[in-house]
This record gives sequence, structure tokens and C-alpha cells, in this order.
Amino acid sequence: MAAAQRGVTIWFTGLSGSGKSTIASALEAKLRQRGCQLEVLDGDIVRTNLTKGLGFSKEDRDENIRRIGFVSHLLTRNGVVVLVSAISPYREAREQVRDRIGDFIEVFVDAPLAVCEDRDVKGLYKKARSGEIKGFTGIDDPYEAPLNPEIHCHTDRQTVDESVAQVIAKLETMGYLTAAAVA
Ligand code: ADP
Repeated sequence: MAAAQRGVTIWFTGLSGSGKSTIASALEAKLRQRGCQLEVLDGDIVRTNLTKGLGFSKEDRDENIRRIGFVSHLLTRNGVVVLVSAISPYREAREQVRDRIGDFIEVFVDAPLAVCEDRDVKGLYKKARSGEIKGFTGIDDPYEAPLNPEIHCHTDRQTVDESVAQVIAKLETMGYLTAAAVA
């Protein structure tokens, strides 16, 4: 019988439009090919159910992250690989989740604000600049970059595939992906 898969939370943090969901989705496909049991918690989707009703004050953002962290912990300790993509702008909230889960890989999805703003995937930067949206991370709300992330992706100068390969290599060196899991 194959050894049980070790659970881990892979936590993508970064500005809106930095590429968190794009990389998480490409990684999901790769990990599924390798037979991993996984779950995806995408910040935008989570906010429409698990954390519906929460806003964007520091208190609400912290509560959003606390709940995502709670669910991630339950899954992780049961052997699931959890892919979380959430701006999660506050360092302390991320550290609390890390401490609770233990098996935790922080991926800093990094691109200059100007690049994210230029991509403006959801049109939110335009709204933030015009004042239609208040408290938008990077514009009029802070983003506290990770000081010591396990992985740092520079999406303005590396491809999605390169970022995915970076995460997979880290999972292998940390022992979360074993040869037995290879299809
Ligand atoms: P986030 O989840 O961080 O808000 P998204 O993944 O939704 O960001 O959007 C990032 C956008 O940037 C997508 O349209 C994606 O195609 C684009 N993009 C361009 N280059 C890259 C790259 N190297 N890595 C990730 N995304 C990239």
C-alpha cells in the first residue's frame, strides 16, 4: 500500500492581480496529474460563502483569514494538499495561520503595483483610483510583504510554468510530494 499523503497548506499571498489564482490553478492541474488529493480555497469564492458579509476593514480581513486558516487546518491535518489564494495583506494574520497549521508553505506572489494595475484583471484598480472603492490593498490600504516566505515568485519576470515548477520543487524537497505520488 502506498504511504499516506502528507497534508500541507500552500498559501499564495500578494496584491490583487499579482497572479495568485492563475498559479494556484496551474499548480492544481499539475498536482492532480500526480494523484494528489487537494482542495482549493480561492479568496474571491470564499468571500461569497464561508466569509460572506465580511468587509475590508483590518478586523474583517483578519477574520476572513482566520476562517480560511481554520478550514485549511482541518483539511491539512487530514492529509489534503490545500491551495489558498488570498491577498492576506497582514503579516501577523498570516503568521497566526502558519503557527496553527504547521505544515505551511507561504508563496509570495510578487509583481510591482504598476504591473498589477496595468493588468487590472477585474477592473478594481480603476475603481480604487477613482474612489469608487475604498480601502483597496496597494492603493489606500497596506500590503505587508512576507519577510521570509518559502517561495518568492516574481510574476513580472517569470512565467506561470516557472512559478509552478518552483512550488513543486519546494514540495519535493520538503517531503510533501513523494516518488510514490508520481503518476
Ligand atoms: P490574483 O489571483 O493575484 O488576483 P489573477 O491570477 O486573478 O491574480 O490575475 C493575474 C493576471 O496576470 C492573469 O490575467 C494572468 O494571466 C496574468 N499574468 C501574466 N503573467 C503572469 C505570470 N507570470 N504569472 C501569473 N499571472 C500572470
